[in-house]
Amino acid sequence: MSHPDSLAAQPRASSPAPASMRGKRLPVAILGATGAVGQTFVRLLEGHPWFEVTELAASARSAGRPYHEAARWIEGQMPARLRDVVVQPCDPAAVRAPIVFSALDSGAAGDVEPAFASAGRLVFSNAKNYRMAPDVPLLIPEVNWPHVAVLERQRALRGWTGALITNANCSVTVAALALAPLHEAFGIERVFAATMQAVSGAGYPGVASLDILGNAIPYIADEEPKIEQEMRKLLGTYGENGVAEPAIRVSAHANRVPVEHGHTICLSVGFVRRPAIADVEEALRAWRGPEGIGGFLEACPSAPARPIIVADAPDRPQPRRDVNAGRGMSVTVGRVREDTLLDVKLVAMGHNTIRGAAGGSILNAELCVLGAPPMPAGLLAEITAAAGATAS
Ligand code: NAP
Repeated sequence: MSHPDSLAAQPRASSPAPASMRGKRLPVAILGATGAVGQTFVRLLEGHPWFEVTELAASARSAGRPYHEAARWIEGQMPARLRDVVVQPCDPAAVRAPIVFSALDSGAAGDVEPAFASAGRLVFSNAKNYRMAPDVPLLIPEVNWPHVAVLERQRALRGWTGALITNANCSVTVAALALAPLHEAFGIERVFAATMQAVSGAGYPGVASLDILGNAIPYIADEEPKIEQEMRKLLGTYGENGVAEPAIRVSAHANRVPVEHGHTICLSVGFVRRPAIADVEEALRAWRGPEGIGGFLEACPSAPARPIIVADAPDRPQPRRDVNAGRGMSVTVGRVREDTLLDVKLVAMGHNTIRGAAGGSILNAELCVLGAPPMPAGLLAEITAAAGATAS
């Protein structure tokens, strides 16, 4: 199977910017810019039609050094224009951009992200710290964009002039994209998930080569509870009391395997109504996300043409062959078949640092720029005006 836009990891440069930007790009900062996800942000945002990276920040180990010295660049070439940019400390007094992408280690994110939101910035976080907070949206746009409405509650409760939006754990992102259409169509009651997770999911330098080469490690700290909890929040319904989580029982096994990029998840699923296999495949193929979001997604430079690609070949998906589907933003699903334990089993695979991290954050930010409802009206304009943001 070939994917028309499979290898370009860049956003579609042709997507027209909202008229309110008057042809200018919005300045954005990356916190944790030296790490694996931070570098993925840099790569994906280079040439982005709406955003321009103007500031890079990381720990005290890196602050004050030029980016090319502070970051050990992992993939391809570091953009020339950023090589000599001096890395800043993760302090809102030093980093001025109104939109902040956070690729911070969770040890730092807990204090740093609220400091930026409190200082009037719109923060898109990849860290685990606030994902399960009831007033913080945990977003995969095609799965649950309506949850962005919780930002009104967040700003009222916390008194922030900015806001904090999170995206999900990388494994759960892949699994939730595959399961959302099935939950919508048939009602999911139980999920058994076994992951095979790439080494880039452990950051850089990550797992020692002597631990992972020719090996599989049946343990990833904190991963299984994250998959079990975040899945329910993602598949929940937004109402006047916030997100109501469905009574889905999830059991996860998390394994690290010697694959560079791409998390593969084997899923067995029990439904309220047992569907025919052909109906499951049709539900996956037809799905485009919540009502009303389609037109907005089409306008987003980072949205893939199809969030789910159903592989026909019996030996797909495979990370080596499918990880860049939809420029790393599509999840490939295959091996849909009957399960003797629950009802249906299938395999889902997606790019952990693109769809599961930086690309997911950028897509959330693009929808915020478009003001896709129920994004609180005027929030972004308020934030950029308060930051005195000058777009280039
Ligand atoms: P990483 O390679 O270890 O990078 C961590 C980044 O955080 C580095 O830029 C580091 O800066 C910075 N940092 C560490 N301690 C800091 C401190 N005290 N103050 C300020 N900055 C600090 O990790 P990663 O894989 O990129 O992951 C980044 C975040 O994304 C984590 O929260 C992770 O759980 C999450 N995430 C990762 C993936 C993935 O596939 N890798 C997917 C989803 C979510 P220095 O270089 O200066 O130390």
